Amino acid sequence: MKKINKILIIGGGSSGWMTAAALINRFPDKDITLIESENISTIGVGESTVQVFRQYTGMTGLIDEEWMPKCNATYKLSIDFTNWSGDGKTVKYPFGKGTWLNKYKPIDWFIYNQDKNIKNHYSYENFAIGHSELLRQNKMVYEDDHINGWDFNDITGFQLDATLFANYLKTDYSLPRGLNYIQDTIKDVTLDYDGNIKSLISSSDREFEADLFIDCTGFKSLLLGKTLKTPFVSFGKYLLNDKAVATHIPYTDIEQEMVTSTDSYAHKNGWIWNVPLWTNIGKGYVYSSQFLTEDEAEKELKEYLINNTKCSKEIINSLQYSHIQMTPGFHEKSWVKNVCAIGLANGFIEPLEATGLMFIGDAIEFLVDTLAARDGVVNSYDKSIFNKRVRQRAEYFVGFVIGHYAMATKNDTEYWKTITEDIDYLSIDEDWTKYLQVYMLEFFSELINKWQYLKPEDGTPYIMAGFGFNPVVDKIIQSGHHKESNLKLHKDIESYINYQKEYVSQFPNMYNYLKANIYK
Ligand SMILES: Cc1cc2nc3c(=O)[nH]c(=O)nc-3n(C[C@H](O)[C@H](O)[C@H](O)COP(=O)(O)OP(=O)(O)OC[C@H]3O[C@@H](n4cnc5c(N)ncnc54)[C@H](O)[C@@H]3O)c2cc1C
Repeated sequence: MKKINKILIIGGGSSGWMTAAALINRFPDKDITLIESENISTIGVGESTVQVFRQYTGMTGLIDEEWMPKCNATYKLSIDFTNWSGDGKTVKYPFGKGTWLNKYKPIDWFIYNQDKNIKNHYSYENFAIGHSELLRQNKMVYEDDHINGWDFNDITGFQLDATLFANYLKTDYSLPRGLNYIQDTIKDVTLDYDGNIKSLISSSDREFEADLFIDCTGFKSLLLGKTLKTPFVSFGKYLLNDKAVATHIPYTDIEQEMVTSTDSYAHKNGWIWNVPLWTNIGKGYVYSSQFLTEDEAEKELKEYLINNTKCSKEIINSLQYSHIQMTPGFHEKSWVKNVCAIGLANGFIEPLEATGLMFIGDAIEFLVDTLAARDGVVNSYDKSIFNKRVRQRAEYFVGFVIGHYAMATKNDTEYWKTITEDIDYLSIDEDWTKYLQVYMLEFFSELINKWQYLKPEDGTPYIMAGFGFNPVVDKIIQSGHHKESNLKLHKDIESYINYQKEYVSQFPNMYNYLKANIYK
């Protein structure tokens, strides 16, 4: 079996450059080339990562102090959801491990939260992580033994300019390490008698051959989708959003506005992101074309920005707005024949929960494992395992993201009524929605042990708690067995939070922390 030595990456968006950087770093002796087109633009948004993204920066040895200043990056500790119940309230889904109250399990909070004898319940994040006050006060610290469970390198994700990040990986990382780079547009593809890709033909009539072609061509999916016709599973039945309009606004009060969370504000026909970068704030409206035209969406976003930021009407009207089309869904397989697709070319859920760059990092890690295991020899079983690993990860998050819409209760517009009153989330039984079909239903059980595999830091209990979805069966609540333990839980949180409120106030806010440590 032929070894994979010559690798051709097609596409110079985040996925292309992230793949190129990781491969040239791990396999410096292989012949690796990236081709990108000057004429086809990248998506260029995708500015917010989860903390798992640190696996990628770790794998490539990227150092915060070096790459962050070149990518307009800030730290991110949480994803927030505002107004998803239609009441303007903000729900936090912080990163980090819930180690401070490890004698309790998530179900204890859900039982406690139903106890009518207790007034002013503490929120789930107060219960589940030790640094909820640090988050609430927008403070940052590197190491600290008094904040339980705090581990900077495990907890921090990033907010970054995706275009600058791709550029950094190109000029400061991959090219100096010997990556071959070509600017050209692929206009044709030839196949061999086995249906593998034989070569790519470019606009300048050059022909490129390789052992492995990595398709990073974005939603075009030139090789995996268009050429090999790999089946595509659309999530359009559950996820209505297929468009976005994006811009950047200037800071008016940088110390207040540069927060450690990315917010997702549920608006009339979709949701609006708020991503504070170092020099400006990314804003974008994710919406469904079934309910809004591009012009209407831009108008709604502008109105929102005029009413909800301190920027003047003149400034908001003078900004540049870019319109983006997206296709929620995944290909059935990501590695077919001699094509492996990474990034949007393989699939995308939607921007909620910032899974795009995380999936890219995961797929790259699995690809490196596959290529390293037998020194470049890859058989059909290796590819199946790669495909299974990519898909398992995606399946969980597809269900998790759909779960946000399934659990929301906002219903003041036709768009939200469709989402929260019309869609039957359990009507279609397929692998991609196993999370809703099986996983979520397990919590509706009298057997408390069904909850045992849920960890406090998992996303699911945060979203259930924040969106007011409480699956503890009524019998357990009514049994009255938990009166004392509920009170004890309340007091435990109270004493810790009171201490933390005072304690974390000494630390710098994110702006000053970055100024002292990253943007020196
Ligand atoms: C609205 C929106 C918001 C998002 N927000 C987030 C977020 O907050 N966090 C997150 O993690 N992810 C987010 N994502 C996902 C993230 O943007 C993408 O995962 C990421 O940008 C990767 O894109 P890509 O490199 O796969 O594709 P693209 O950026 O589309 O790049 C495709 C590349 O292929 C090249 N190309 C295409 N055809 C050819 C050809 N024929 N010949 C040569 N080159 C070609 C293009 O020139 C380009 O360089 C978001 C996505 C969208 C749509």
